[in-house]
Amino acid sequence: ENLAWLSCTRHHHWKEIEMVRGIGAGLIALASLAGTSSAFVSSSAPFVSRANSHVGRSISKMSKDGKGEYDVVKVDLDDGRDYPIYIGANFDPEEAGELLRSHVKGKRVLLVTNDRIAPMYLEQYEAMFKEGGELQVDTLVLPDGEAKKTMDVLGMIMDKALELGLDRKVTLVALGGGVIGDMVGFAAAIYQRGVNFIQVPTTVMAMVDSSVGGKTGVNHPKGKNMIGAFHQPQCVFIDTNTLSTLPDRELQSGVAEVIKYGLIRDADFFQWQEENMEKILGRDPSALRYAIKRSCENKAEVVKADELEAGVRATLNLGHTFGHAIENGSGYGTWLHGEAVAIGTAMAATMSARMGWIDDALLKRTYDILINANLPVELPLDSPMDKETFLKLMSVDKKVADGQLRLILLKGALGNCVFTGDFDEEAMKETIDEFVAECVGKKQAA
Ligand code: NAD
Repeated sequence: ENLAWLSCTRHHHWKEIEMVRGIGAGLIALASLAGTSSAFVSSSAPFVSRANSHVGRSISKMSKDGKGEYDVVKVDLDDGRDYPIYIGANFDPEEAGELLRSHVKGKRVLLVTNDRIAPMYLEQYEAMFKEGGELQVDTLVLPDGEAKKTMDVLGMIMDKALELGLDRKVTLVALGGGVIGDMVGFAAAIYQRGVNFIQVPTTVMAMVDSSVGGKTGVNHPKGKNMIGAFHQPQCVFIDTNTLSTLPDRELQSGVAEVIKYGLIRDADFFQWQEENMEKILGRDPSALRYAIKRSCENKAEVVKADELEAGVRATLNLGHTFGHAIENGSGYGTWLHGEAVAIGTAMAATMSARMGWIDDALLKRTYDILINANLPVELPLDSPMDKETFLKLMSVDKKVADGQLRLILLKGALGNCVFTGDFDEEAMKETIDEFVAECVGKKQAA
């Protein structure tokens, strides 16, 4: 409410009106600025996150047919690259189509999805882009799965775009979860040195995290997301009704990233999640909408402060260094991304507690919320992960700088974390040992 802004989406143009009301709002704004000013760090100095700089950068709008309300969160970037995230359920299809088409600059659209999502949603979105007859819309259906997030499958997008003779004014549309979003975003970043794209995320993971902020890419057998680019979309369109077809396990996987925002920077949001986890997992529409909106607000703030991940943005990777090693070492597709991140978060929290950076109460709250979200907090019986595999895979993490591994660890009260290479390496190895030993112990007991 403190910061209102108007969109003229038809003209791809944002006008911001600041209305800071009252001293409290001013103080929040100052705290926010203080938080962002320390985002630039050398590779050795730790970056310390600031809790609760949240200022609620979104507005709610009533749909034209009066049947539903939707939120618009703005991602604030330099050089006129700001873009909106529309979040709602029960969109008026005509209005949804208008919103989407308003972000297409040329006359051609290539709508890309996968063979699991296509039967459910492709026709609906194709019709929305085709409505009015102004756009020529082609479609491409890729094979589904994390294991297909590869250079080869990316090549299929390039092939199709070239076969269709698409020029630099084409808009690519990513309809699907994080895999489709990352891959189509990367295709948009490199096709003819960069074309526009729109994200239409259909998983919680993609809605709360991967579709926002412009990180795109594919996996390499030697490391996850190792090949990619920063490339921001024209808009993100989130219809939470698409979650009705998402299996529980996929939904829970996305919740791991929601929990992350609470742990690293938003204590109030964490507490709200503790109180509302049952509703989130039960797909209560207003709980889902709030969880997605607040996650997008958090992500938008972090991306605004540090678009290219020089400092604070790295904190969004809590649990990911351990998690990516688990995903890769177990074989892509064995674990869902959020599940691997959940185990990684348990490991990061355990290591933080081992070093005395967080107290036992916060460690317990971290475990409790992950468990309540039905997420794994330990390696399974059949895990191929051992200490050597962990250390080898963690050494190729993108956060390694000049050979030094840097981790995101919790430090201090709930909502604070550090991104640092200055940690006790023994504590890290002992934590890995502890998790691997638990799994070995289970194997012996079985
Ligand atoms: P995903 O894209 O594989 O989707 C999960 C599964 O659900 C797939 O089988 C998909 O086809 C299916 N699906 C999607 N929407 C559906 C729906 N509405 N109904 C039924 N099924 C549906 O996985 P994900 O969890 O969405 O994303 C994980 C990926 O996101 C990883 O590759 C990860 O690296 C990436 N990621 C990227 C960022 C970023 O900043 N770019 C952030 C977080 C995660």
